[in-house]
Amino acid sequence: MVAAFDRSFRLLVLPGDGIGPEIVGQTLRVVERFGAELDIDFQITQGLVGGASIDTNGTPITDAVVDQARASDAILFGAVGGSRWDDRPRATRPEMGILRLRQSLDLFANLRPAVCYSELLDASALRAELIEGLDILIVREATAGVYFGLPRGQAIDADGARRAYDTQAYTEAEIARICHVAFQIARTRQSRVCSVDKANVMETGALWRTVATEVAATYPNVALSHMYADNCAMQLLRQPRQFDVIVTDNLFGDILSDAAAALTGSLGLLPSASLSAPMASGRPRALYEPIHGSAPDIAGQGVANPIGTILSFGLCLRHSLGLSDAADRLERAVRAVLADGVRTRDIAAGRPSVSSAAMTDAILAALDRSSSPELTSNPV
Ligand code: NAD
Repeated sequence: MVAAFDRSFRLLVLPGDGIGPEIVGQTLRVVERFGAELDIDFQITQGLVGGASIDTNGTPITDAVVDQARASDAILFGAVGGSRWDDRPRATRPEMGILRLRQSLDLFANLRPAVCYSELLDASALRAELIEGLDILIVREATAGVYFGLPRGQAIDADGARRAYDTQAYTEAEIARICHVAFQIARTRQSRVCSVDKANVMETGALWRTVATEVAATYPNVALSHMYADNCAMQLLRQPRQFDVIVTDNLFGDILSDAAAALTGSLGLLPSASLSAPMASGRPRALYEPIHGSAPDIAGQGVANPIGTILSFGLCLRHSLGLSDAADRLERAVRAVLADGVRTRDIAAGRPSVSSAAMTDAILAALDRSSSPELTSNPV
């Protein structure tokens, strides 16, 4: 549940590297617009993360920025990384900036919507009739599982052969809290949750299935189904529209959410949210970011698609501010612009394309054309 807010909202902005500053810069125009229209005082602080932070501070994120993140109502994140920093050891690479934020703020719920825009049906690898109307939300557990389990490492066996190992581990509480997030959000959608695991071959999968079933019993109006992860990968390609909300662990969620994103054919369009449990204020800690990376190949040209980041701010309106009407209106404005044929280069398919700034101009103009909703704060 999101508590009513007092019209003041602390937003930490971490643009990062490559196209990060460009797409975040465009998104701040949209933030400013909603602030003025809905009378919300967005108190914006900017910080360094990723390669930008390495260059200035020698580390992908400083303690001070992590503290700022903790003191904020939400974080708007661009993207990090680039070949300049690729040779660094894993623990000091730009990507550690985002991992540290996720861990420090316990952002365990990663929400990855995969929506297919009818205007871009031809961008998908699948036939249009399979993906028209596609609207999946993948809820991925993001702070536990095999990416964090201990022990992990590499060793040399007695016979001199190299060996590597990771540990997949989940507690009952870790599974239950991500399932609650999935069920709560499903109630605002089509009320269907598919829980994905490998209960047939993994102990963690068996516990996952048991706990998901127990949590489901507390949401009588939401239908639960179970699916093995390998079958889910296949079903995403065969009949993706069968899914409403998918809830799954860290590893399967990482893979399946990229597969679902590929169905839509539009890396530059897709947003994401990473949420903690609700705090005393009723709001979760939250980080919003596009799903794509820093796109060094087009950085500095002003041609990056800002929509994934702008829609990430839409998720902030929905999940941190409880302003579902405003979020819906932003999503409708993006659809209207795409329907008008406005395209950045990544989705132009050979047709004329516009700059990042012109795409944002078009979204702001579409918002101007739509009616202004009353300021209401709804629970998510
Ligand atoms: P990428 O997502 O940056 O780019 C893949 C392709 O998609 C590129 O051709 C790029 O030009 C295009 N693209 C991506 N976003 C776009 C946008 N908004 N508009 C137009 N085109 C867009 O993936 P990559 O090339 O594999 O990685 C580049 C760097 O980003 C690497 O250093 C990687 O580690 C990092 N990365 C960071 C994040 C993150 O910050 N969360 C996520 C993924 C990758």
